[in-house]
Amino acid sequence: METKRAVTMEKLVNLCKTRGIIFPGSDIYDGMGNTWDYGPVGVEIKNNIKKAWWKKFVQESENSYGVDAAILMNSRVWEASGHTASFSDPKMDCKECKARQRADNLIENYSKGEVNPDAMSQEEMQEYINEHQIKCPICGKFNWTPIRNFNLMFETSRGVTEGNQNKIYLRPETAQGEFVNFLNVQRSTRAKIPFGIAQIGKAFRNEITPGNFIFRTIEFEQMEHQWFCKEGTDVEYYEEYKKCAWDFLLSLGFKEENLRYKDHDKLAHYAKCACDIQYNFPMGWSELNGIHNRTDYDLSRHQEYSGKNMNYVDSGNGEKFIPYVVEYSIGADRLMLAVLSEAYDEEQLEGGDTRIVMHFHPAISAYKVCVLPLQKKEMGEKAKALYKTLCKHFPCTYDEAGSIGKRYRRQDEIGTPFCVTVDFDTLQDDTVTLRDRDTMEQIRMPISELASYVENKIKY
Ligand code: ATP
Repeated sequence: METKRAVTMEKLVNLCKTRGIIFPGSDIYDGMGNTWDYGPVGVEIKNNIKKAWWKKFVQESENSYGVDAAILMNSRVWEASGHTASFSDPKMDCKECKARQRADNLIENYSKGEVNPDAMSQEEMQEYINEHQIKCPICGKFNWTPIRNFNLMFETSRGVTEGNQNKIYLRPETAQGEFVNFLNVQRSTRAKIPFGIAQIGKAFRNEITPGNFIFRTIEFEQMEHQWFCKEGTDVEYYEEYKKCAWDFLLSLGFKEENLRYKDHDKLAHYAKCACDIQYNFPMGWSELNGIHNRTDYDLSRHQEYSGKNMNYVDSGNGEKFIPYVVEYSIGADRLMLAVLSEAYDEEQLEGGDTRIVMHFHPAISAYKVCVLPLQKKEMGEKAKALYKTLCKHFPCTYDEAGSIGKRYRRQDEIGTPFCVTVDFDTLQDDTVTLRDRDTMEQIRMPISELASYVENKIKY
């Protein structure tokens, strides 16, 4: 039986704003559609998510290497990758209220997920919308422009004078930074196939219908890992990466019941097979990450467009070939939304109170410990000194305002795994009370043992 989850998008957005996790972008100017700023707590959580990903896919991966490529790339890159010609969504404009909509989204929402627009051609989508007279979700009228393809890449230009301008793009994915560095990485590390190149960085897409908080934004971060392997081994590695991606999510504390694989019905022209892992977000099941078998498409295209030989030479038998690529790609912000949704809980306490608690994996929490003096006047100095010592070991926070109960609640809401209270006894015997976020149990412990106790608990 499915248990009802406490989390809703509205509750998350509110909590994120009030607790310094995520604010609307350009807030004092009434925002800027679908841009978001990470606050003091949010930036720590997101950094921890990125660190955990890097640990699994670079540090602990036997033959993977990181890069940090430029966001602005030679425009030829996007011709080679196919983005200039076909990185587009099918858009329709409402002639009445001017709202822009994605034809595929209109069909999906109208059919409540029963019809899969991914498997339809543009003509079929147009036919379906006309036949069912699907109305504009904003104004309720049925008066659309025909479906047109809308390229999602943000354009900008470089050059100092008007006449000397070159059109360039903000990258719509980080993957190409890994492909164009294939030779550089392979030669400088002397890596042998199979090996991986990973990158975390910003990507930009002029999404027609962004929304659902940080689920789909126009500026976001991707964490991508390309595994270069020999044709014939690609299917096995594709299956392996499906599993690695799943296990990574479990290692962050995701429940299996909130995850599922979804094979793509319609494959991109270059893909041999592709699947997503979907997460049960507050607004429903949606893509969290993708795993694609991209064949030798990317390197072959870059060979064609750059004129550089992309062959890998097997040092054992001298065989030359263009490697296949298995790609694993996940948005850091989308994963952040999933992590927030998974962690959120409301618990009924004795006495009728409710507490909101974020059950993050301790490695993901912004702060590992909050130090609290029971009374500011008598214990403030001792507590501050303890806070400063613990900060050298892991991120901590300090709170001396309000009742202890209220201070515990504030930490529960940002998911701090431990609260340490300095009280009268501490002044006598150098012991403190350590409260566990999840169980709310308290134990007494000498200050000297605190750092190593917490360090053990927050390991990832
Ligand atoms: P979608 O179908 O949701 O538009 P996609 O299939 O275009 O996503 P990919 O191009 O495979 O996505 O990108 C890989 C990952 O990057 C996605 O699984 C998602 O986690 C993240 N991502 C893609 N677009 C966005 C966006 N606009 N905002 C936030 N994250 C995104």
